[in-house]
Amino acid sequence: MFTIKTSSPEATAEFAQRIAQQLPAHICLCLQGDLGAGKTLFTQAFAKALGVEEPVTSPTFNLMNVYKGNKTIYHFDLYRLTNEEELYDIGFYEYTQLDPGEVALIEWPDNFWEAMPEDYLKLTITIGATPEERIITIENHGQAYADFYKELKNQCQS
Ligand code: ADP
Ligand code: MG
Repeated sequence: MFTIKTSSPEATAEFAQRIAQQLPAHICLCLQGDLGAGKTLFTQAFAKALGVEEPVTSPTFNLMNVYKGNKTIYHFDLYRLTNEEELYDIGFYEYTQLDPGEVALIEWPDNFWEAMPEDYLKLTITIGATPEERIITIENHGQAYADFYKELKNQCQS
C-alpha cells in the first residue's frame, strides 16, 4: 500500500493521467471514497488521457457507461446497486473479464467486494485537511497488476 496527496482537482487529474499513460494491456481499478471524493473526476481525467473525447459522466443511474478511446473503458458506479443479481443483468462479470485493450473503473465497490475480479488495484480517495486536499491510497490485489503497481509505487515515492 502507498499513499499520495493531491492539493487540487488538477493534481488528482494529473495523477489519473499518469496512470493512464503507462497502463499494462488491461487493468481494473476499484475507486473507493465518499460522495464528492473525486472518483468520477479521476475517471474523467483517465478517459481523456486515453483519447476519449465525449464527456464522461457518472453512471449512477444506468450503472455502466462504455467509452472508446485508445482502449475500451467500462465505467461502473455501483452506488445504487442493492442486489448482486443486478450485476448479472448488466453483464458485470463478463465485462470485468478484461481482454487486452480493455479497462474497467468501478466506483463504489464497497458492498460488492466478493463480486470483484481477482486482480485489481484499489484506490481509496479521502478528503484531507482542506477542501481541495485528497489522500489517495493505492493497494494491489492479485497477481496480474503486481509489476505495474510496483513501478507506480516507485515513481510516486521517488
Ligand atoms: P465522486 O465521484 O467521488 O462522488 P466527483 O469526482 O464527482 O466525486 O466530485 C469530486 C469533487 O471534488 C469535484 O467537484 C472536484 O472539483 C472536487 N475536488 C476538490 N479538490 C479535489 C481534489 N484534490 N481531487 C479531486 N477532486 C477534488
Ligand atoms: Mg462519482
